Amino acid sequence: MELTQSVILYPSLGMGHLIPMLELAKLFIDHGFSVTIVVLDSPQSDTSSAVDSFISRASSSYPSLSFHRLPKVAPPASKHPMIFLSETVRLANDNLLDFLSSKKSTSDIRAVVLDMFCSVSLDVVEELHLPSYFFFSSSASILAACLFFPTLQTQLAGSLRDLGSSPLHFPGLPPIPASDLPAHMQVPGESYDAALAHFVRMPRADGIMINTFESLEKRAVRALVDGACVPGRAMPPVYCIGPLIADGSDAEECGERHECLAWLDAQPERSVVFLCFGSMGSFPTEQLKETANGLERSGQRFLWVVRSPPSDPAKPFDQPMPEAELEDLLPEGFLERTREQGMVVESWAPQAAVLAHRSVGGFVSHCGWNSTLEAVCSGVPMLGWPLYAEQRMNCVFLVEEAKVAVAMEGLHKGLVTADEVETKIRRLMESDEGRALGERMAATKERAVAARMEGGESTLALLELVTALRKATPATGGA
Ligand code: UDP
Repeated sequence: MELTQSVILYPSLGMGHLIPMLELAKLFIDHGFSVTIVVLDSPQSDTSSAVDSFISRASSSYPSLSFHRLPKVAPPASKHPMIFLSETVRLANDNLLDFLSSKKSTSDIRAVVLDMFCSVSLDVVEELHLPSYFFFSSSASILAACLFFPTLQTQLAGSLRDLGSSPLHFPGLPPIPASDLPAHMQVPGESYDAALAHFVRMPRADGIMINTFESLEKRAVRALVDGACVPGRAMPPVYCIGPLIADGSDAEECGERHECLAWLDAQPERSVVFLCFGSMGSFPTEQLKETANGLERSGQRFLWVVRSPPSDPAKPFDQPMPEAELEDLLPEGFLERTREQGMVVESWAPQAAVLAHRSVGGFVSHCGWNSTLEAVCSGVPMLGWPLYAEQRMNCVFLVEEAKVAVAMEGLHKGLVTADEVETKIRRLMESDEGRALGERMAATKERAVAARMEGGESTLALLELVTALRKATPATGGA
């Protein structure tokens, strides 16, 4: 009996990883594979209701898609996100092995695709002699930097923190100030080691898919393809198959359309600046007030997603967000005075749909990669205000390489003043420089759309991957 050709996807913890994997799953389904997404539940928090409803929606829309939920593991001792994540994945390896072994006996597994943060499961995939791939959901530039980092590390005299803002040189990237690398890379320690272990493992895979398109990041892609970022090691094939983004149609189609979209309907074309800082970004009250004052003084129409400040500033991304009390967080009378000028939304807006709206002309963003791709796909120029993780590096790319953004400077001093907010928003929305950024972003959007059309660069890269998967000799035998 001929077995179904299947692809197994393994995202790491959290909806932020599950959502891009669903987009990837759709591509494989379009090419006739049956796809299983293996879901790892957080051992700590009870996120199951969001995951449950995601799974039930996705399974009813795509009959060739199934989900397999691994049994929950005991919570690792470390609370540091990077270590907690790596440990959780490692603890789940036995369960993954059981699942893959039994799946292998009933289907012809053509690829096991791991999220970067699941790199510790590469051992399991290799033990079963299954084809291993990574899906890197950030940019090619970040991947090139990550893969080169183990080499760079051997050339550094001290830690990154000692280097301050001195430039680091990665193949295919503009110079990046050392202080712009993620916090956990600044000084050696447990989380630094956990990150380094991911970077060292990735080139062992049979291929790496990246959520980008080649013409957006030509230099970085070249550095990956020609192996410049892994000197002395072999580099597996790289497939730029993006941009994969949720297109925002859910927010437009499902019954309850968000009120901010109705507000946008009433605004002139490209007149609104949208401020939103990813799924976890939040600010102290002092910063919220500065931002509000700057926005008001800029005179620009705005749509602003505001969250409560983290209750423990030392752990801004590691705790549930309290409900935002807008009146208390913003300057007195701000909401009343700006009623005609703008709209403040508590906690969450349907970002992809907002960016795609004709009234939006600028985006103040933390430069998360999904947000960046959504801005690119809507042709909206950006004002970069990075907060954490690799966002400062993304911001450097957007300003220096792609030239589709300006950056806030005050974040390096700990506070972005109202003056800077006012000036930079005016620059983005009403200066010749802002118009030039908008024109470059519009051209970038054209290339993004073309990349995913028939015959486009990302469509062809996917075809090349699918052909390689189909041709590969099926894995046989047990563990
Ligand atoms: N997002 C949204 N509404 C919000 C905040 C975020 O829809 O109010 C979505 C956004 O469209 C993007 C994702 O959440 O798809 C954020 O991903 P990104 O990689 O930009 O940042 P992260 O949340 O990982 O920091």
